[in-house]
Amino acid sequence: MDSKAEFKFGNTSNMEPFWAKEDLVKTIHDKAGIETLTDVIEGFKTGLKREIARNRNVKMAIETCVHCGACLNACPTYIATGDISNSPVGRADLVRNVIKSEKPAGKIFGGLAGARKLDAAYLDKIATYYYQCLECRRCGEICPFGIDQADVTRTVRSVLHDAGKISRYTATVINNAEKTGNNMGLPAPALKATIDFVKDEIKEEKGIDVSFKVDEKARAMFVPPSADFFSNLETLKGYMFFLHSIGMDYTFTTEHAELANFGLFTDTKHLRIIGDHLVSVAKKLGVKVVVAGECGHGWRAFKNYVIPRLKEQGIEGIHIFYLVEEALKTGKIKLNPDNNGDSVYVYQDPCNYARGGDLIEEPRYILQKVVKNYVDSPHSRERTWCCGGGGGVLTDELLPLRVEYAKLWYEDAASVHGDQVIRPCAICKAQLSHTIPKLNKMNSSNLTNSGLMDLVYKALTV
Ligand code: SF4
Ligand code: SF4
Repeated sequence: MDSKAEFKFGNTSNMEPFWAKEDLVKTIHDKAGIETLTDVIEGFKTGLKREIARNRNVKMAIETCVHCGACLNACPTYIATGDISNSPVGRADLVRNVIKSEKPAGKIFGGLAGARKLDAAYLDKIATYYYQCLECRRCGEICPFGIDQADVTRTVRSVLHDAGKISRYTATVINNAEKTGNNMGLPAPALKATIDFVKDEIKEEKGIDVSFKVDEKARAMFVPPSADFFSNLETLKGYMFFLHSIGMDYTFTTEHAELANFGLFTDTKHLRIIGDHLVSVAKKLGVKVVVAGECGHGWRAFKNYVIPRLKEQGIEGIHIFYLVEEALKTGKIKLNPDNNGDSVYVYQDPCNYARGGDLIEEPRYILQKVVKNYVDSPHSRERTWCCGGGGGVLTDELLPLRVEYAKLWYEDAASVHGDQVIRPCAICKAQLSHTIPKLNKMNSSNLTNSGLMDLVYKALTV
């Protein structure tokens, strides 16, 4: 079915099921320690003025942007939809127009064209387009003034959050994480059962009894995204077999079984609550180091917020790829790339590794060792395309839009005759698993996808 026929691009009514209802908003606000306002419009106006007064990047984006249009050619959401409001400069204009309408005549912006009084319909439009941004930061790489519209998106979403307009999907995920310690809301017995199941699979496939702990004191705590306990079991096998192979004394934690942090997509207060919980669990278990699994935005939140908090407690934080790279360089592990066959593996950087996570060469080094045929995507490293599911858009209501967004990286992979796309990130994996079947059908093709630790698992020998 043509996805465009099901979804009217640029129509805010598409987003009606997308917004959190009052009770969920109240739960999220209570957790963040803020009052739920009765007047969403006034709340948004007040919050926007406050942020513009204190946030230099937002002020710059609103006042310095010269509409040169350079960012249009970089932005996947604009390229995919051709909708100017779904572009960096278009999004900024939506809030700029509100600011203009608030200025007295004669002052800067006052009475200028485009001024727009904020009403419910316009607030819906702002929320719709700010929630269709992927927060991929591609625009920030290209803007001659260094304006990072992803930062503006985060700020506007934070103002929307405080005013009471929140995506149902991100609010649900945050609520799960804050209640249960993981985004999927998986209870401890389910997590333990999955870990035991994977242990048995490794024994069957590799003949090795891998050692690990769960909720016990250890030298290291290992924290993957919770999706790896649910839908990415091959990735989980890779972590467990590798950590066993290097003799790591590590524990899983069922109290905080989550590297992802949807506070990054919604509001910094939640980013801190979720990040601080991870730190408190690491402290309780007396670990010296926390090892992060495969997740782009999770790594960005971990690297930039959690690691500094861990360091305050005398605990280190590291991505598992650094450990794999070191094990390869020191000969601690043995690999057989033949185990991954003759397929052409295309590496595509998750946005938050390449533009915010400083994790670019390490996964490539590993990939070169675990497969025979590796190629880079034409748009790679800092120019990588978002998977099309980032920034909190990974929800069923937006699947038609996500398919449009996905065409960019899909075409990239096809142009280098790739058989399998490697994107080591939980959001990328979920987005690819939903969009590849549709795109393969449209293109009569047979592309597949995988994480990186999945391939390490297959190549690792005993
Ligand atoms: S962050 Fe990405 S999706 Fe959002 S405006 Fe910038 S380029 Fe477009
Ligand atoms: S590249 Fe920068 S200055 Fe040019 S339109 Fe985009 S945000 Fe404005």
